[in-house]
Amino acid sequence: MEVPPPEMLELRTGLAVVEWRRSTRAQRVSLRIDPRGGAIIVTLPMRASRRAGMALLMNHQDWIADRLAALPDAVRFTDGAILPIAGVPHRIRHAPTARGGAFLQDGELIVTGSAEFLRRRTHDFLRKEAGRRLAALVAEKSTLAALHPKRITVKDTKSRWGSCASDGSLSFSWRLVMAPPYAQDYVAAHEVAHLRHMNHGPRFWALVDQLTPHKAPAIEWLHTEAPRLLRIG
Ligand SMILES: [Zn+2]
Repeated sequence: MEVPPPEMLELRTGLAVVEWRRSTRAQRVSLRIDPRGGAIIVTLPMRASRRAGMALLMNHQDWIADRLAALPDAVRFTDGAILPIAGVPHRIRHAPTARGGAFLQDGELIVTGSAEFLRRRTHDFLRKEAGRRLAALVAEKSTLAALHPKRITVKDTKSRWGSCASDGSLSFSWRLVMAPPYAQDYVAAHEVAHLRHMNHGPRFWALVDQLTPHKAPAIEWLHTEAPRLLRIG
């Protein structure tokens, strides 16, 4: 039987990564938390359906929330850990003898080189990837609004997703790379709109609405998920 790919599921306490396993030995559907990456591992006997796993998940949301809350960090950048990139779970795979730095391949983040550099290389990759995605979004929004950002930087901020300086420079938190595309889209629109309105008045919000259709769900997502994303890395 087919194993469903890892996915992000919305539980009562927020988004969680769910990994599905098939086992020939399992007699019943079971749940456990992977302490390395904080993923919820659902093991299905050969004949059980994904739906049976979902039912068990939904009935154990409090148990899951308690276990996740007890983990010291949501995700550490270690071999085997799972982290979202643009909202899609990716497993970090250490490939010590491969070349090419760090790159995405078949749903995995491959990190080459010696183990002692794994964390830094993962971090560097995510920061670069955040810059690439946000620069593309900012370019698109700026063109729409006929605005001209001075430059774009990616920072290690934990208190805010983005900011706009009075000289027209925009900066963003590298952690946005983990957020789903619609949330990235909104944060880019928000900061581009500040190039015209350096406040949060009605005209600012009207411009944000012109630049992105995702304002409400993105604000909701960022509000709910900020605590979890800020524990990653
Ligand atoms: Zn603002």
